[in-house]
Amino acid sequence: MNSLFVRKGDTVKMLSGKNKGKTGKVTMVNPEDSRIVVDGLNIITKHRKPRSQTDRGGIRKVAGSVDASNVQIVCPACSKTTRVGHMEFEGKKVRMCKKCFKSLDVKATDKKALKKAKKEVAESVEEAKEKKSARKPKAAKPVEETAKVEETVKEDEAIQE
Ligand SMILES: [Zn+2]
Repeated sequence: MNSLFVRKGDTVKMLSGKNKGKTGKVTMVNPEDSRIVVDGLNIITKHRKPRSQTDRGGIRKVAGSVDASNVQIVCPACSKTTRVGHMEFEGKKVRMCKKCFKSLDVKATDKKALKKAKKEVAESVEEAKEKKSARKPKAAKPVEETAKVEETVKEDEAIQE
């Protein structure tokens, strides 16, 4: 089954449509067609004909669904809209805020373990950065030049002595 980056209970911000900029809680997620229902938003009015003698029909307001790509998650920790990353937490893959690196799934009660997971994520981010800069030959050049300058300085000193 496909899984969406949005889960029930998440707070999301609408990126498009008439509710653009508004936030709400996700009350329903349908991974099959990538549609979600946001509480209080996208209310649609349904007109219903009476279907039996006891059914009077009428106008009903129901929550409409929106495509998940129209929303962005609001991080509960830093209150920013964020893209969703992933990290390991007690052997499980949990979602993570890409802005503050806090988990979107682990509760505040798991603070200690979360801190550990956060540290690991931060370290892996640092590692990735180091790998990136190591690949760039440009980053290595200035170091060589500095070394040469130092050598020249030493030679000058030697002459002065
Ligand atoms: Zn965050």
